[in-house]
Amino acid sequence: MAEACDYDVLVIGSGPGGYVAAIRAAQLGLKTACAESRETLGGTCLNVGCIPSKALLHAAKLITDAEDGAHLGITFGKPKIDLDGLRKFKDRVVGKLSGGIATLAKQRKVTVVEGRGQFASPHLLAVETKNGVETVSFDHCIIAAGSQAARLPGFPYDDKRLLDSTTALELAEVPKRMLIIGGGIIGLEMATVYDALGAKVTVVEFLDRLIATADPDIVRPLHRRIEKRYEKILLKTKVSKLEALPEGLRATFESADGTSPAPAAEVYDRVLLAVGRRPNGKNIAADKAGVQVNERGFIPVDNQMRTNVPHIFAIGDIVGEPMLAHKATHEAKLAAEVIAGMSHHVWDARTIPSVAYTDPEVAWMGLTETEAKAKSIEYEKAVFPWSVSGRALGMGREEGVTKVLFAKDTKRVLGAGIVGINAGELIAETVLALETGADAEDLSLTIHAHPTLSETIFFSAEIADGTITDLLPAKRSATQ
Ligand SMILES: Cc1cc2nc3c(=O)[nH]c(=O)nc-3n(C[C@H](O)[C@H](O)[C@H](O)COP(=O)(O)OP(=O)(O)OC[C@H]3O[C@@H](n4cnc5c(N)ncnc54)[C@H](O)[C@@H]3O)c2cc1C
Repeated sequence: MAEACDYDVLVIGSGPGGYVAAIRAAQLGLKTACAESRETLGGTCLNVGCIPSKALLHAAKLITDAEDGAHLGITFGKPKIDLDGLRKFKDRVVGKLSGGIATLAKQRKVTVVEGRGQFASPHLLAVETKNGVETVSFDHCIIAAGSQAARLPGFPYDDKRLLDSTTALELAEVPKRMLIIGGGIIGLEMATVYDALGAKVTVVEFLDRLIATADPDIVRPLHRRIEKRYEKILLKTKVSKLEALPEGLRATFESADGTSPAPAAEVYDRVLLAVGRRPNGKNIAADKAGVQVNERGFIPVDNQMRTNVPHIFAIGDIVGEPMLAHKATHEAKLAAEVIAGMSHHVWDARTIPSVAYTDPEVAWMGLTETEAKAKSIEYEKAVFPWSVSGRALGMGREEGVTKVLFAKDTKRVLGAGIVGINAGELIAETVLALETGADAEDLSLTIHAHPTLSETIFFSAEIADGTITDLLPAKRSATQ
């Protein structure tokens, strides 16, 4: 008889993918272990990602809201920022949540193996612990080893003035001038924090717009607000050279397409490189288990999160875009349930919402207009400008826009994009609408409290339904 393995399930990584997979597997009665190389549980998201960035963004919002008070006749004066205090607040939040996961794991009897794991064979993981290499055998494995910040070649990485998202979150100091390379979500969220804290921020983006994965019309109000606050926003531009000088980091710019003249080189006190993330697929000796990893480091999986090796699953950032915590968590539950014998479970979520927690926030889900046009999908678009929302006006933040895309024939929700304060919360209603197959009439017959920002979704549905009373006819829906 074959020898029994140490664990029914071994999870590699304890991020929002790994810890949820481990706890769900244990909940389903499986003997589970989780290997984690970091000292605390929670992965990128909890330790150096979603949670600390949102704690700092909350502080940033307090500062800019106080500044905006001037438009309402209230002036607070220059804020006194205690960086130590702010850092402690962020660390307290992270500590509390990470401790919470450790408690949950303990209560569910998940064994945490502290150390970096690498496959030794298809049923063995060798973990480098403080006390030497510990070999753990498993019937099933879930790889949730996540991703790390991507790098550009030739930059002076030994220089502490060159930051990545992790060191930027450490908030060592507020630089006078800061260059942020990358106008995606992470770059712009960190720009929001450092701008509010008083840095002169320049954002440089290779593409012709910020947050290129969202529709341009829902990013524009953000662009308009931040171009007034930041020193510069350089689009279609790349940093071709970054030199460490005594006085700072000198960035040489080049036009991305080589056609337009590039701005002159500039020296910055700090530079943050935020050009995306690369999966950790190549760092776990996957070949020893026979698990395929593609050239970019992603691990291909089927619709049950199974790799090419039937007893090994993979979830989260390591399996592909979008690299988001809630996607990892959804996949985690699926993988654990399939291993526990719920073999009918498959990936069937219709959408994964995305949110940039900038100010204003940008949120979108389902089909984007850009995608619809590229794929010749027929749709009807309803756009409600927040300039006529009583709630938005009363908050002095009427730059927002709510856009909902409906199927031309059935009027079912296909996608949505919202820009404005709290867009990240508002998008959830449209996600539910898409998941449940709701149409314009369902949304327009759902009574929304007045005056709320969520009414803008209801008004968009009324536009599509032809029942809107709050807009002039000329502003009604446009179709492809
Ligand atoms: C600054 C920043 C802000 C972000 N904000 C958001 C946000 O607001 N919302 C959102 O949805 N997403 C956000 N993300 C993305 C989010 O953090 C990731 O999508 C998410 O953490 C992925 O989860 P995961 O479980 O796949 O991997 P991770 O969270 O990366 O966890 C993987 C874990 O595996 C461990 N590990 C790796 N290799 C090994 C090994 N060989 N042995 C043992 N352990 C190993 C790592 O130490 C890590 O703890 C943000 C990311 C960053 C960097």
